[in-house]
This record gives sequence, structure tokens and C-alpha cells, in this order.
Amino acid sequence: MVNGFIQASYFIVAVVFILGLKAMSSPVTARKGIVWAGYAMVAATVVTFFTPGLGNVGLMVLAIVAGGAVAWWSGKTVKMTDMPQMVAIYNGMGGGAAAAIAALEFARGEVHGVVPATLAVLGALIGSVAFSGSCIAFAKLQGIMQKAWRLPAQNQVNMGLGALAVLLGLGIIMSDAPASVLVVLFFLVALALGVILTSPIGGADMPVVISLLNAFTGLAVGFEGYVLGNPALIVAGIVVGASGTLLTQLMAKAMNRPITNVIFTPITGAAAGGGEAVEGTMKEFSSLDAASVMRYASKVIIVPGYGMAVAGAQHKVWEMAQLLEEGGVEVVFAIHPVAGRMPGHMNVLLAEAGVPYDKIFDLEEINADFAQADVALVIGANDVVNPVARTDKSSPIYGMPILNADMAQNVIVVKRGKGAGYSGIENALFYKDNCRMLYGSAQQAIGEVIQHVKALEA
Ligand code: NDP
Repeated sequence: MVNGFIQASYFIVAVVFILGLKAMSSPVTARKGIVWAGYAMVAATVVTFFTPGLGNVGLMVLAIVAGGAVAWWSGKTVKMTDMPQMVAIYNGMGGGAAAAIAALEFARGEVHGVVPATLAVLGALIGSVAFSGSCIAFAKLQGIMQKAWRLPAQNQVNMGLGALAVLLGLGIIMSDAPASVLVVLFFLVALALGVILTSPIGGADMPVVISLLNAFTGLAVGFEGYVLGNPALIVAGIVVGASGTLLTQLMAKAMNRPITNVIFTPITGAAAGGGEAVEGTMKEFSSLDAASVMRYASKVIIVPGYGMAVAGAQHKVWEMAQLLEEGGVEVVFAIHPVAGRMPGHMNVLLAEAGVPYDKIFDLEEINADFAQADVALVIGANDVVNPVARTDKSSPIYGMPILNADMAQNVIVVKRGKGAGYSGIENALFYKDNCRMLYGSAQQAIGEVIQHVKALEA
């Protein structure tokens, strides 16, 4: 009877997880989706307490209270620009939890039969890699680990460690009561593999890696759900695994970098090199000139990028857009799928500032409109508007789909100086005849533009 109630509840929880995920696919319903999935998670946790013969209830409550308090505090206080590292560490906890479940089941001698043992070993291996890999990703994004270090024969070491982990895992599967030393060695190798795989990857590639590790965590949780006979865990794991895989593919495609390339031959920053020399000069613009050009335009397309996030300028940008609209200018936002440092980075910032969703357009929706725009205002974006991606085959970003900002009649670029973007290469757009540079931190530069637009209205 109680078991039936628990299983039925897990089934409902699993359905709500899927509905929540579906709702998260649109910014209009995303908040609702997160709340549904959160309630489902609470329900799954509460229902678990009804399991007959459940022990260590006090310890479980303590863990939930401690973990919940840390999550509540960090969720409330994290800055939007620090979100990638928070996702990294939370993801690592998921992978670590899956690996810990497997470790405990091995220690209790509860895993019997080839199929459960294989799934437990797979979950443990993938979960351990996700845990240690995510910890490295967190350390890099948080600036704790500054350098990407690479071993002399990195790929061979990766393969060697992977093969050793598989061999040790096979040893565990074959024996009905695996020796503790074998289990401990297996986990140590799996954790080392996560560290060795992630360490050579540069900080800016980390979001792709985190997304991949997130898919790993989902898989690990799904496998351990099978071992524990818990359908809610199996479904949640599969949902996370599948969505993480899709997201990883989407990001890799938007950066035009195969995922194997991100992991095995990382290139980052100035080390990227390559590309033809860019000709021409950069032409400076004043905030007054920028305000006049935009105030008397018919259509302005704003392209936000990483610099807008760093400057926290989204509120000022929206204030300026509203002022221009009051003056009869049509203003819309163009979002590149990998603008910023995580998927949806710009959408979240603009939504936070109150920009209505119907003013925000994806690359495919808006790219044809740049040719009819009077002004493309590029705010702290660089790589996502670099036209060499279309033309220069020797460029590291060749083939990456870009926003056609260069096709607007006038382009105004807001940035602090001559700093390169993530790829570390020159941007040919900045040297074009129709492009003007408005130097300054985005928040301060847009603030000045607002003052001038107001003065023009008066
Ligand atoms: P970029 O990193 O290409 O460029 C950001 C620009 O912002 C810099 O050139 C910098 O120039 C400027 N900037 C920095 N701080 C400020 C500030 N306070 N005010 C104004 N400008 C500032 O950003 P994009 O968004 O164009 O491109 C994202 C890049 O990140 C792509 O190459 C993408 O592939 C990569 N990436 C994205 C991921 C994602 O999921 N979104 C994941 C992994 C990588 P200056 O120093 O002169 O101010």
C-alpha cells in the first residue's frame, strides 16, 4: 500500500519534471517551469521519508537543512556574471551524489548481478568524472585556478586513465563482493580522470564543458536510480542527460567548434592566433554623436555581449531603448546563441531589466533585418559580430554564425578600449567605414548617451 503510494508519487513527480522542462524552453514560461520542477523535487524528497524501514532520518534531515540553507543563501546572493561557476559547482554536487550512492552500495555489498553492477559502475565512473571535472571548472571560472595546464602527452594520459578506470570497473562487475581496495582505486582513478580531462581547457570554454558534464551527471543519476529502484531518479537523470547533450551540441554548433575539439585540442584567448591581418583604422565617436544618430534613426538594433554583462549595464540599456522609443524610434534586441559566457546569458539579463520578450530576437529571426536598420548598437559584444567568421578561412572563428551588424547603415560599438573578445582575434567590423567606436565602460557610456538623448528631447 505504502509502496504503491510512493511509486505513484514518483511517477507524478517525473511527469511534472518533464512538464517543467518543457515550460523552461520559452522565456515566457521559464520561471513557471523552474517553480514546478522545484515543487516536484520537494515532493519527491518528502515522499522518500515514507519508505518503510528507512533509517538515519535525523542525519537526512540535517543534510537537507544544511544543503538547503547553503543553496538558498548562494541562490539569493550570486551575481548574474557568477552564474556559470554556480551552475558548475551544483552540477558537480549532482555527479558526486550519484558516485557516492554507488560507493555506498558497493560498501554495503548491495549490488548483485551483472546488469545492476554494470550500471552502478558506469554511474560511479561518470558521476566521479562529472564531480571532479566540475570542481576544476568552478575553480577556473572563479579565478582560483588561473592557468590551463596541459601534460606533455595529454591525450595519451586521458586514454590511459580511461582504460584503467574501465579495467578496474570490470573487476568490480566480475566480483560479487569487490575488495575495498579495488573500489577505492577505481574511484581515485575516475576522479583523477575528471581532473586531467578538464584542466587543459581554458576558462572561456568552460560553459560548453559544464553543459557536457551536466549531461554526464544526468546519466550517472539515471544509472544509480536504476540501482536504487527509484523511477523518479531514473526519469530526472534521463531528462538532465538528454537536455544537457542537446545544449552541448547547440553551443558547439553556435561556436562552430566540434565538442571533441573543445575537449581534446583546446585553443583559447590570444593563443588562438591565426587569421589575416585587418586593415583600416578605428574611428572614435562621442556619446553626443551616438545619441544624435540614434535619436534620429528609424530603426536601431541593439547587440548585447559579454561586456554588457560585466558592466551590469542592462538596466541603463533598456532605459535608453525606452527613451528612443518615446521619440518614435523602433528599437529591438538581437541575441547571438553564445553571446556572453553561458547559453541564454543575454536573455536572462534583458529579462531582469524588464525588456519585453517580443523585443528580443534570435540570430535566425533578425539577421536579415540588419540591412534595413539605420543603426546597429553593439554593446560589449565582439566575436559574435566579427565578419571574418564569414570570410577568412584561416580565422579560428571561421564558420561561426554571426550577427550581421556590419550590414546596418551605421554601426556604433561600445567597449572600453582595444580589448579582444574571447577568441583573442581582431574584429574586422571595428575597422569598417560605417563603424564608429564609443569608448567607455558600457554602463557609463550608455548613461552619457541617455543624458544627451534627454537633452535632444528638451
Ligand atoms: P566577447 O568575449 O567576444 O567580447 C566581449 C567584449 O566586451 C570585449 O571585446 C571587451 O572589450 C568588452 N568589454 C569588457 N568589459 C566591458 C565593459 N565593462 N564595458 C564595455 N565593454 C566591455 O563577447 P561576445 O559576447 O561577443 O562573444 C562571446 C564569446 O564567448 C564567443 O566567442 C563565444 O564563442 C564564447 N563563449 C560563449 C559561451 C556561451 O555559452 N555564451 C560559452 C563559451 C564561450 P574591451 O576590453 O575593449 O572593453
